[in-house]
Order: sequence, then C-alpha cells, then structure tokens
Amino acid sequence: MSREPRHGSGSWTIRDGNEYLKEYPRATRWMNQCLGCQRIGYKPDMPIGVGKYFHALRKYFDPMTLVENGLCEDCLQAMHQVQED
Ligand SMILES: [Zn+2]
Repeated sequence: MSREPRHGSGSWTIRDGNEYLKEYPRATRWMNQCLGCQRIGYKPDMPIGVGKYFHALRKYFDPMTLVENGLCEDCLQAMHQVQED
C-alpha cells in the first residue's frame, strides 16, 4: 500500500506540508520518517489535543506508522522478501 503525493488535485501537497514544517518546526515532533523510503507522515498516535498542529498535519500528510527499526510496513515487507530470496 503506497500512496503518491497528491499532486494537481487542488488539494494540499507534500511540498505544502514541508513548508508548514519549516514554519512550525515544533510540529515535527509529531512526525515520523521512514529510514528506508524517507517518506514522512504524522504519528498515528498524535493526540487530538495538539490543536492546530493536529489539523494541519492531518491535512498535509498521511499517517506514517513505523513498525520496526524506524521502518514503515512497506519497507519492512520489502526487507523480509529480500531475506527470503
Ligand atoms: Zn519506508
């Protein structure tokens, strides 16, 4: 399951999200980045109480779950497949 950045649909893009994070560096504490594919997204357990960050990050990004060793599920699966070959 991989999602492309939402380009050209009139909605927000990853680039907007990066601009937002530059402007509000404190919001990065609610972000995850996969060490494998470098994709970023908000932490799924981000509490709704973080207010403006919560709404902005949900608008700009998809949730990013890091399953193990800083890797997302996709990368972890890919890694396991390589090991099984
Ligand atoms: Zn990944």
